[in-house]
Amino acid sequence: MNVMSNDLKTLIPDTQKFLRQEMKQFIGGEWVASSNSDSFSVIDPSSAEVLAQVPKGNAEDIDAAVQAANTAFNDPLWRDMPPANREKLMHRFADLIEGHAEELGQLEALDVGMPSFIGQHVEVGNVLDTLRYMAGWPTKINGRTMNIGEPMPEKRFFAYTCREPVGVVGAIVPWNVPLMIAMWKIAPALATGCTIVIKPSEVTPLATLRLAELAVDAGIPAGVINVVNGLGHEAGQALVEHPLVNKISFTGSAVTGKAINRTATETLKNVTLELGGKSPVILLDDANLDKAVQGISMGIFGNTGQVCVAGSRLYIQRGIFDKAVDRLTKEARSLKVGPGLHPETKIGPLVSEAHRDKVMGLIEAGVKAGGEVVTGGSQIDGPGYYVEPTVLINPPQSSQVVQEEIFGPVITAIPFDDIDEAAALANDTTYGLSSYVWSKDIQRVHQLVPKIRAGQVYVNSSPFPHPAMPMGGYRQSGIGRDLGEEAINHYTEHKSVVIGIN
Ligand code: NAD
Repeated sequence: MNVMSNDLKTLIPDTQKFLRQEMKQFIGGEWVASSNSDSFSVIDPSSAEVLAQVPKGNAEDIDAAVQAANTAFNDPLWRDMPPANREKLMHRFADLIEGHAEELGQLEALDVGMPSFIGQHVEVGNVLDTLRYMAGWPTKINGRTMNIGEPMPEKRFFAYTCREPVGVVGAIVPWNVPLMIAMWKIAPALATGCTIVIKPSEVTPLATLRLAELAVDAGIPAGVINVVNGLGHEAGQALVEHPLVNKISFTGSAVTGKAINRTATETLKNVTLELGGKSPVILLDDANLDKAVQGISMGIFGNTGQVCVAGSRLYIQRGIFDKAVDRLTKEARSLKVGPGLHPETKIGPLVSEAHRDKVMGLIEAGVKAGGEVVTGGSQIDGPGYYVEPTVLINPPQSSQVVQEEIFGPVITAIPFDDIDEAAALANDTTYGLSSYVWSKDIQRVHQLVPKIRAGQVYVNSSPFPHPAMPMGGYRQSGIGRDLGEEAINHYTEHKSVVIGIN
């Protein structure tokens, strides 16, 4: 089977104009040439063609960006800005992003490979929801007055706490939904009065660069949002090491997260880690099978499985195993695979050749371990990096394909007999990011939810990160939370003030 590549002639003029411009670093509110002439190529995964050359920043570029962020942090213009004005700026930023949603969606379609409709409406939709949700926070970040009694004879005190921004934040972002994850870091930074240096993934940096430009157009002061492109072990490492960076907010793989945590210990930074997952889906025999199959399919094949919360391990109650596998197989075969800009595409390519090869290697390992491919299982010929949506039944629970994050359109299916066995299988992993339960039986649902060791449990739903709901994982899926009030807590310090008043 052959699959088309993106037709760049269908891009809107704004996207074409952005792609024609010379990519630089975005520091202190303007495009700045990198300190060196090295660059890397950004590739369209539907065609393997080069989309843009982006500068390969190093420690010097990171230092320039951190200095700009530190200056902006200490500037009364930002530091003393009334919270209601910060809120207004955030709404203005959101309105501007909304006006450029099609352009940003197309950049994500080209860079990541996702359908541009999903980029524009789902990813940019979440970016807007997150920014507007967080815009409600600046006016509500308060301390408390505390009754500390009279701890010393005849001495009286007035005591209170206040909340202050943590300072300069270093944000390190992965390639799978780059704009959305960048906004999960930017929005709480803006809400709390922090400033930020973002190091996008070297695989998909384009939309984040455009976002930084829009922030300045919206009136966000220069230096509040900075973007430095570069490789992880160079620019990323320099950001984690920089002594003026007070917090690292990282989203990416567990391997990188552990390395970053070790490096950040040197300067004892506040660290949030949003890492990988191997999320279980428990399908009980009373579930509405039509809805469940659609939700399960969307939860693993959406964004070609390149989703941290992808429901990649399906556990089906034995009595409905064959029927459920059959339905899921039909659903997987119905999904149109193609380039992101094509209006009928449901499943795009994987992000790179190396990633496609990794996914294929894990499918092959699953078959060698005893799994049976009931649909998919092959890469698709052509210049792009396509893999068929794949359903693999009965691999051993201990096999690599069940235990390791694949980050591709591959779901394993294994039967279980009762709720306790389902919970034990679900928890049998080093991760604990998301989980899914499909059932109409409220009692069995409530028996299962407390048994599952994961940061999210979706019941009768595929995943959707809502900005009010904290997002993060148990165990090796991370430390801390993005989104929700929890993110505001992670971006602020608590100061205790005790005043003797006699
Ligand atoms: P990755 O860990 O390879 O890279 C993530 C980022 O870290 C990139 O910007 C990279 O340049 C940078 N980096 C790499 N080495 C570094 C170092 N030594 N120091 C500093 N920075 C470094 O991850 P990826 O392949 O880009 O993304 C996929 C992973 O992200 C998956 O594991 C996925 O589950 C995870 N993810 C998690 C969430 C979540 O919310 N928990 C969301 C999306 C993706």
